[in-house]
Amino acid sequence: MSIADNLTSIKKNVTDTVTLVAVSKTKPNEAILEAYDAGQRIFGENKIQEMTQKWEVLPKDIQWHMIGHVQRNKVKYMAQYVDLIHGVDSYRLLKEIDKQAKKHNRIIRCLLQVHIAQEETKFGFDENEILGMIDSEEFKSLENIKIVGLMGMASFTSSMEQVRKEFKHLKMLFDTLLKKLSYITTLSMGMSGDYQIAIEEGSTMVRIGSSIFGARTFS
Ligand SMILES: *Cc1c(COP(=O)(O)O)cnc(C)c1O
Repeated sequence: MSIADNLTSIKKNVTDTVTLVAVSKTKPNEAILEAYDAGQRIFGENKIQEMTQKWEVLPKDIQWHMIGHVQRNKVKYMAQYVDLIHGVDSYRLLKEIDKQAKKHNRIIRCLLQVHIAQEETKFGFDENEILGMIDSEEFKSLENIKIVGLMGMASFTSSMEQVRKEFKHLKMLFDTLLKKLSYITTLSMGMSGDYQIAIEEGSTMVRIGSSIFGARTFS
């Protein structure tokens, strides 16, 4: 199946209320343009350098989402153009994003990444860290970032029950946070292997790579 065919069949499972991020990491510009010609405008990358190289040459109405782990010293390279940063996992990173956004006179939209998986290796806040942070005066003084929601990655496991449990947990945290930050709208959860479960559990944004572009040879 072509990239356009893959997009068509995924869109049958993704309702209008769920935003589809096409994860194009490691894929060439030709593949991105094929998805673009099929109407896709939101693309996700996990390396700033790769994303910036693609941003420089590809159509300017593409919205670039940074979905990977972000090092503070690299924020400056994407501050000019990034549309949404999914993986904000520390207050220090958020402060740096605010600082770099200010230089470009922008407000950068961010998702707070929550650690929901069993694995130790996945980045993210826990619930108490988020609740503590949003109550602090310093947080409230950041004017060039906007928290629009939460992002999480489920455990890498074949147990779909475990994955569902983790998504339910993230949705509960989202609803808790909504009582304090009434303007949040976005719950980014679900990838190629688990996005249907994620949508059943309340996802509003799915990040899908291999089911659109085919398997990655390296990542
Ligand atoms: C690579 C990646 C995806 C997409 O994974 P697929 O299984 O190819 O759909 C989604 N989210 C994040 C954070 C990723 O790094």
